[in-house]
Amino acid sequence: MNCLKFLVFLVLSHAYIANAQNLRVKVFSQDYFSILNTQAVHGDYQIHGQEGFISELKEGESLRLQINSSQQLHLTKNGEFLGLFDTLFLHQSSHHDYLQFKPQGSKLIKQRQYEGDFEVTVQDGHLHLLNLVFIESYLEGVLSAEAGVRCPKEYYKIQAIISRTFANNNIHKHKSEGFFMCDAVHCQAYYGRYDGESNAIINGVKETYGLILVDSMGNSFPTFFSANCGGQSAETDQVWNVSLPNYESRPDTFCIHTRQAHWEKYITRKEFFEFLSKKFFFDLNDDVLVSHALNFKQEQRQTFFIHPSLGIPLRDMRAAFKLRSTFFSCEPVGDKVLFKGKGFGHGIGLCQEGAMQMVDQGMSFNKILSFYFKEAKLSKINFLINHW
Ligand SMILES: [Zn+2]
Ligand SMILES: [Zn+2]
Repeated sequence: MNCLKFLVFLVLSHAYIANAQNLRVKVFSQDYFSILNTQAVHGDYQIHGQEGFISELKEGESLRLQINSSQQLHLTKNGEFLGLFDTLFLHQSSHHDYLQFKPQGSKLIKQRQYEGDFEVTVQDGHLHLLNLVFIESYLEGVLSAEAGVRCPKEYYKIQAIISRTFANNNIHKHKSEGFFMCDAVHCQAYYGRYDGESNAIINGVKETYGLILVDSMGNSFPTFFSANCGGQSAETDQVWNVSLPNYESRPDTFCIHTRQAHWEKYITRKEFFEFLSKKFFFDLNDDVLVSHALNFKQEQRQTFFIHPSLGIPLRDMRAAFKLRSTFFSCEPVGDKVLFKGKGFGHGIGLCQEGAMQMVDQGMSFNKILSFYFKEAKLSKINFLINHW
């Protein structure tokens, strides 16, 4: 096997370490509320407005932020009114200080805890909360949200490198809105600081400190991943219509017996043919074509249903019928069509269940990364973001 050597470029990471508060993440991005209760759980915080220092929030003390009728922030500390503000800043006094937030009236979230600094404004009648957080702390939260809390450390090392590289690649994703990334799966799921028992997450981040994947030119590598590739990875143009180098389809025997290796779903023939005829002018009077559709087989990943000339992308069928992947075959069962599929997700890049199997078999994180990201190598970032 053409196993690439992973080179670690140890660049002096002075600026990276010194610039501790460097990501701007919009938190509670899927939720809307106008009252926020906050408590300093660990450490003291300084409260600033645009004009400067307002007050100190000592450990254990509480703040309440409420939008008033003139769309300003009405601020009280331990019940005492501190003023009306357009923007508030909450600054931690040391690196691991954190706050607890309880959005009042939120349907989704009771409370969350976040490390770092905060910037609060009012946008469209809702509180807009940005978390200015050191990337390595952010990653602990991302890993627990994206990969769960029960994986072995070697797996978290992989996920940490992927998520750190993603953050590095996507710092301008929400630039026009005044922050780097949101906390939803649109960017990376991040639901606050990791406060569980698992040292595997903390050490997985720590032992890969600053490491990202880069291409042969030293540019940051696009690190896609999905839950299970179904035994063969997809190419980017099969899913997004964009052909990226370094992502040719390849077999993966590690994931084919795992939890999400296979799936089945029934769709009524009516729904099936309605979609094909209405969206793609599929000729329902052509018996041969109808039979091909009902008995479509996909041994190797394809981009189009039946034949490319029909122009029916498998990704459109996946979206329309809410299928777990585009890697499926069909068969007629009574008045229904049975989809028999492999894998879960887009199938591009790293396959999480395959990688987990490799970890169980004793393979190291860099060997697994080189299997899924063949052309990539490891590099240490010397600084992440100071060019907003
Ligand atoms: Zn986003
Ligand atoms: Zn796989």
